Amino acid sequence: MASFTLQGIPISRGITIGRAHLLHPAALDVQHYLIAQEQVEAEVQRLKDAIAKVHKDLQAIWSDLPPDAPTELGAFLDVHALILSDPMICEEPLDIIRSRHYNAEWALVTQIDVLSAQFDEIEDEYLRERKADIQQVADRVLKVLTGSAHDLPRAVGVDESNANMIVVARDISPADMMQFRNVAFTGFVTDEGGQNSHTAIVSRSLGIPAVVGMGNASRLILQDDWLIIDSDAGVVIVAPSALVISQYRDRQAVLLKARKKLNRLKKTQAVTLDGISISLLANIELPQDAHAALEAGANGVGLFRSEFLFMGRTGHEHKLPSEEEQFVAYRDAVVAMKGRPVTIRTLDVGADKPMDSSEHNILNPALGLRAIRYCLQEPQIFLTQLKAILRASAFGEVHILLPMIAHSFEIDQSLTMIEQAKSELALAGIGFDRKIKIGAMIEVPAAALSLPMFVKKLDFLSIGTNDLIQYTLAIDRADHEVAHLYSDTHPAILQLLHMTVSAADKAEIPVAICGGMAGDVRLTRLLIGMGFRELSMPAALLPEVKQAILTSNIESLQVHIKKILRCYDPVVIQESLQQLASVGSTLH
Ligand code: PEP
Ligand code: MG
Repeated sequence: MASFTLQGIPISRGITIGRAHLLHPAALDVQHYLIAQEQVEAEVQRLKDAIAKVHKDLQAIWSDLPPDAPTELGAFLDVHALILSDPMICEEPLDIIRSRHYNAEWALVTQIDVLSAQFDEIEDEYLRERKADIQQVADRVLKVLTGSAHDLPRAVGVDESNANMIVVARDISPADMMQFRNVAFTGFVTDEGGQNSHTAIVSRSLGIPAVVGMGNASRLILQDDWLIIDSDAGVVIVAPSALVISQYRDRQAVLLKARKKLNRLKKTQAVTLDGISISLLANIELPQDAHAALEAGANGVGLFRSEFLFMGRTGHEHKLPSEEEQFVAYRDAVVAMKGRPVTIRTLDVGADKPMDSSEHNILNPALGLRAIRYCLQEPQIFLTQLKAILRASAFGEVHILLPMIAHSFEIDQSLTMIEQAKSELALAGIGFDRKIKIGAMIEVPAAALSLPMFVKKLDFLSIGTNDLIQYTLAIDRADHEVAHLYSDTHPAILQLLHMTVSAADKAEIPVAICGGMAGDVRLTRLLIGMGFRELSMPAALLPEVKQAILTSNIESLQVHIKKILRCYDPVVIQESLQQLASVGSTLH
């Protein structure tokens, strides 16, 4: 077979080599036949039983989640349980069996086709992602109906031929990903999905090489084909020659060695060759992530995405975490960081992080009632969270970070709410840090263009480049159709970053970056050269960024930085970035 290469969207790091294991959606293979009148109720029962079995399976996966499972997984399982309980899935197909006498599989696929067609009419990316979820749930039910529910490879008795298995599928549900966790599988390739799709998020948490958004890879790749995933390049090589495989094996070995070497830097402080100290902080989603942050040598937590405490909490009804529950979570993170600062971002729900299914009907969620807008509209929820955060501040250094601020009154109202939370605690005789630092995310262009409004009222700033890029370039960060336009080195973004660091310097307040740019080692020299002294990123990326800092001389970067900031030609910007990478010495 001739070798060929496919290009997709890279969502994690590393190289993997193995054989393709194709996962076909069960829907493609269903039988179609009519049921006799007297068998209709039995057929209805068969479908009901299958749905009940999937409910049980999902619950079993839930309770089998290892303590170190990616936190998002619980939320995804919850979404699937919710979909399964929706009358459109669990009742409509029963009516189809009764009225049209279709067999159970046919009835379910018919209903899913109707739902899919409705989703296809909608432009909204968030809703399109839900369509994939519905199909994944339907696939599960179909697998039970057709008796192929166990076609996922099991962990036990895995043989050598499975040892380097790469999963190829139209799409993979996070729940299926979780089952693969215990199997010797080393990568995955999917036709669908964007940079921030559910599967991408889990893959990054698991650290598995993967490429998504490949179009029709699952039709071009055959079962047991040899594959190479080069996830840094977003490339999959199908049926590579022995020579190419051996070259990639060499590259793999080099990468592995480099990673081991980097791990030795864990305890080294990030200081440039000319003596400038850079604070490297970790982004966390749940308190237990703080241990990995500490282990990676983080100087603190630069972003605790508190909304993950609020998401996917119960199967069928949403219940908010109480003040006590939140307090315990925040305190645990603070205590785990052993005196290092912990920046807790207040609830940033909405857009790609809905708290419950009712948000699916929002016209344009990224521009809707999200983050601080939601909190100010729901003062009781906000106040409860603020009191919990303040209580945690009695156990170590805590900072409060406000998301998505665009208006001056949002700062004022938030500060008033914080004062109210303080007074209530003081009145109740509960301890907290009275001088707690309060900062705001700079993630909306309006914020970056009105910095004097921020620096006057706040103690620090933190730039959320993920949203800043999304809103400045009008690119949905989760949509693979426009992923190629999502550019972090667009001159507009560089100007906004420069303006923010300059304004913060002038006002003598700290400014961090906590969006994806902070953990991108290709940009480290650019960012520290521009003047950033605090970078917050997923813990796993810390060592690589640290190494880039240890080999940089900020003074000698300046001429290139000035050139980049004067330039509006993307080609010249890229060339200058490459020059930046080669300036100075290397670490031995
Ligand atoms: C960002 O927008 O860059 C950010 C850090 O926040 P989130 O990714 O949670 O939106
Ligand atoms: Mg954001």
